[in-house]
Amino acid sequence: MKNRILKTSKSTLLLFTAYFLFPEAYAQELPFDHPDKKKFSATVVYENGEAKMVNGYGEMSFGEAYFSRPLAERVQNRYTYIVSARGIEGPEKSNEENAGVRFNITYKDVVLGSGTGFDDPTYGQQRRDALNAAFQYLSSIINNTGEADVQIDPSFFQNITPGNTPPLATSTAPSNASRGFNDCLAFRHLNTGTDPSNSLPDGILSFNFGNNINYYYGIDGAPTNNQYDFFTVALHEIIHMLGFTSYVNASGTSQAAANVFTAFDEFILDPGYNPLLVTSGSGSNLTVAVPQVSYLTSNDLWFDNMNGLSTPVHAPGTFSASSLDHFDNSRSTNGKFVMNNSLSKGEYYRNLHAEEALALVRLGYDINISMATSVEDMPQSNADARIYPNPATSGEGVKINLQGVNKPEILVVVYDMLGRVSYSKVVMNNGSGPLTAIDPHNNLAPGMYIVIGSSKDELFNQKLVIE
Ligand SMILES: [Zn+2]
Repeated sequence: MKNRILKTSKSTLLLFTAYFLFPEAYAQELPFDHPDKKKFSATVVYENGEAKMVNGYGEMSFGEAYFSRPLAERVQNRYTYIVSARGIEGPEKSNEENAGVRFNITYKDVVLGSGTGFDDPTYGQQRRDALNAAFQYLSSIINNTGEADVQIDPSFFQNITPGNTPPLATSTAPSNASRGFNDCLAFRHLNTGTDPSNSLPDGILSFNFGNNINYYYGIDGAPTNNQYDFFTVALHEIIHMLGFTSYVNASGTSQAAANVFTAFDEFILDPGYNPLLVTSGSGSNLTVAVPQVSYLTSNDLWFDNMNGLSTPVHAPGTFSASSLDHFDNSRSTNGKFVMNNSLSKGEYYRNLHAEEALALVRLGYDINISMATSVEDMPQSNADARIYPNPATSGEGVKINLQGVNKPEILVVVYDMLGRVSYSKVVMNNGSGPLTAIDPHNNLAPGMYIVIGSSKDELFNQKLVIE
């Protein structure tokens, strides 16, 4: 829309005049991530037994001295917060046993005493609180039992100016540099509990606190139409850091190192629903064939998600650093993704989309799906009569009442009480009364289930009992 306005110089003048009068009316949408993706695509290599991180430009880092310091000492100094499903723990609790995954989050702004970003005297605490809360949400939905060391790099400060939409953040998910598809360090540490490297962080994030980027730092409420939601930005970047990221560049090769790709890349499908990246050979002879380059800008790439779902992958007509690294709201038929490439003012997410939770399962995580996608504040008034009969008997069809829902398609996913998907279906809503949500031939075993229905901007859940 904005580009179309820019076609005539007169309109351009009007646009710029309007920009200075009503700056918030423009640049509504900002990209989540930094455009120089090569800089933030890192692999870990070992030299004389010492681990170092190398980005796509060959720039190296050896980690930070404080990562070798005892965790309790770092917590005591308030550099590091330990975040688990139980809460955000300060020094007084750092010796207690933790259940579930744990994130050890170290704020470089605070280590350096920079007085800006996360160390800002006015905003620092609420920024740390919001970011810690996003980590806590993930702790509560990941059933693995390991931990991850996360470094929050010094903040950066880029303003929105006419013609410049700065990125909201950066995220780095370092992986090994083996040929083929690699799990990132965060996954390995969270999954096994064994630290892949004592000296290196498992993931790195940094955030843009440019003066005129108006953030909402709350969690319980909602941003105004003039604010960017910081929790959403944090959630998005953490998901990248957990391995939801691609190394594919505009040529179809890797921007990290030759033939080295991510676990996420393995599941990208081409327009024919075949794997985009195909390997041959093994070990040090393994090669990854360069895909047909036109596919990368086809608007027709997919993620080979769980349960036979194909989730649209961002592959716009012009390749950018965000290409292949995101899901695509513009092609979604059932709701919006936190992992879209950009964020608009007033837009916010407190939970993952069901297909994002499933993508984490695809990457190897043990995810409590019903917890990941259920919304505490979802409209309970609608939740009672949606699914019937309830209780239902095994082998009986379960109907869904879509009255008042104007969206053409509803994704229905049924989870058992362990968070495993028992059934999923896209229900077409033609507005002519109740529809079958769960086919009669699908024999759900007796028990209790959680049924989650999602459409473009609506989500509901309901407990279902099968007798
Ligand atoms: Zn992103």
